[in-house]
Amino acid sequence: MRILIAEDDATSRLLLESLLRKWGYDVVVARDGEEAWRILSAENSPLIALIDWVMPGLEGPELCRRLRAHVPNGSSYRYVILVTVRDEKVHIVKGLESGADDYITKPFDPHELRVRITAGQRVVELQEELRHMALYDSLTKLRNRRAIVDRLEEELSRSRREGKRLCIGLLDLDFFKNVNDTLGHLVGDEVLQETARRIRSSLRNYDIAGRYGGEEFLLILPGATRDDALRTLERVRIAVGGTPMATQDGSAVTVTASIGLACDDGESKPDVLVRRVDAALYRAKNDGRNRVNE
Ligand code: GH3
Ligand code: MG
Ligand code: MG
Ligand code: MG
Repeated sequence: MRILIAEDDATSRLLLESLLRKWGYDVVVARDGEEAWRILSAENSPLIALIDWVMPGLEGPELCRRLRAHVPNGSSYRYVILVTVRDEKVHIVKGLESGADDYITKPFDPHELRVRITAGQRVVELQEELRHMALYDSLTKLRNRRAIVDRLEEELSRSRREGKRLCIGLLDLDFFKNVNDTLGHLVGDEVLQETARRIRSSLRNYDIAGRYGGEEFLLILPGATRDDALRTLERVRIAVGGTPMATQDGSAVTVTASIGLACDDGESKPDVLVRRVDAALYRAKNDGRNRVNE
């Protein structure tokens, strides 16, 4: 677990740093409030922050207010412990009002600091678990519908900002109802899991896949031209349907997939792109299934 220490006083900073390292934490340090803000507003920043109240420029409470005001979609909760020299009630209430979760007074007792950090770690770990449950589908471990749609909006605006291309694919298993009807729901579930694994392993690292519905998967291919996307989706189609899937009960199930393709025209809203990919999938079904269609 990584912890940010924001402290302008070198002696306190070194003391905190050595204690935290001794307790097994990875430490990131900031020497003033602005540096702390840069670290906390970046992606994958530490989830726990020990923030000194009095620092030149941006002070602890103002830093907390900024942090609470700026919460990007789907971001992790940041647990903040304010470090202060004053322990009067009004002062502490003011600190907590700014958005801090807890406080500790200087000079601090290392044992007290340690248990307060442990309490913060419990909160952060629970929050991460909830966040994960809210974003990921428990069966396939891919993003769920809401998360993949949110991600599409983000990727679309990012790629337009950067003048890049983007295509999406919508994959639907063919006659999947038959799998459930003949082999049972549990085998059906296994097929969905294996389908997700095959999709994931035929995509590049920066492609994004999500479970859009029951046996439908939405694939986002940032940077892909139409031809790149056709090649990728063809690879996905063959990965899913090309070889039988072995299931727990010893069956070997072959399922094929139909895939729709749509590429960003640079101006339509995300739901228009989704409607286009849905129509393309519908045509792939009508043209005989087990194919990629634009
Ligand atoms: P088509 O080729 O036209 O897509 O036919 P299909 O049978 O795949 O289409 P349909 O939409 O009729 O059936 C989808 C099936 O997916 C119905 C539903 O029971 C099944 N399904 C949806 N979610 C799950 C799931 O989580 N587990 C299992 N086992 N089946 C699921
Ligand atoms: Mg200070
Ligand atoms: Mg379907
Ligand atoms: Mg289907």
